[in-house]
Amino acid sequence: MNLAQHVINISSAVTQLFFPPICISCGTHLFKHEIEICQMCIRRLPRTYYERCPSDNQVSILMWGRCKIEYAYSLFFYKKGETVQRLLHEIKYRSNKPLGTELGRQVAKTIAESQREEIDVVVPIPLHPKKERKRGFNQAHVIAQGISEVLCKPLIDSAVYRNTHTASQTRKGRYERWQNVENIFNVRAPEQLEGKHVLLVDDVITTGSTMEACINQLRTIEGVKVSVASIAYAVL
Ligand SMILES: [Zn+2]
Repeated sequence: MNLAQHVINISSAVTQLFFPPICISCGTHLFKHEIEICQMCIRRLPRTYYERCPSDNQVSILMWGRCKIEYAYSLFFYKKGETVQRLLHEIKYRSNKPLGTELGRQVAKTIAESQREEIDVVVPIPLHPKKERKRGFNQAHVIAQGISEVLCKPLIDSAVYRNTHTASQTRKGRYERWQNVENIFNVRAPEQLEGKHVLLVDDVITTGSTMEACINQLRTIEGVKVSVASIAYAVL
C-alpha cells in the first residue's frame, strides 16, 4: 500500500468515526452489514412478492400479447410521493450508486429464493449515451451490478444499445410512449447472448413500453429467452 492509499484509508476511517453512515430513509445509524438503507426501512417498503408467481403477476401480465418473457420480478410497488419513489430519485438524480447496487442485491435475493430456471446473464436496459454522459452513469447498470453479484452471473452491457434520443416519457400516453420507443434499441454483439436466458434490468417498470422494445430486439438473437427485473413496478 502506498502513502496516498494510507492517507485515503485513514481519512475514510476518521470520516466514519465522526460521521457514521446513516439510513437515507429514516436517519438512524446503520449497522456494518447495512448499505445506505436500514433493514427496518427495507421491511417497511410495499413488497409485491411477485417472485412467488414470477410467470403470473401484474408485470408479466402487462407484457402478455406484446412480447414473450419467462419471468418478471419487481420488488416494490411504486407510488408517487412515497418512499420507493424517493429512493429511486436518490439513485437517479443524486447519483447514489451504492443504494442502487444494494437494492439490486435485494432484488436478486428474491430471485434466488424463487428457485426458478436459472438465468445466464444480467443485462441493464441501455440509457441513451447522451443521457448517460449527462448523468454520469446508467442507473439500470448499478442495479444490475448488485443482481449480478448476488446471482454470480455475468453482467453484459455491450450487446444491445440505444440508437436515438427520445423525449421524456413522463407526459405521454401509452400509445404515444410506444411510438416513441418502438425502434430505439439495436443489437450490436448478438454472439454474447446467443442461446442465453437474459435477465433484463431497469429501475422501474411503468407501461412496459421501453422493456417491450428492448425485449423484442433481444429476441431477434437466436435462442434467447428473456426475464425482467426491476426495483419497482408503478401501478398506473
Ligand atoms: Zn431506515
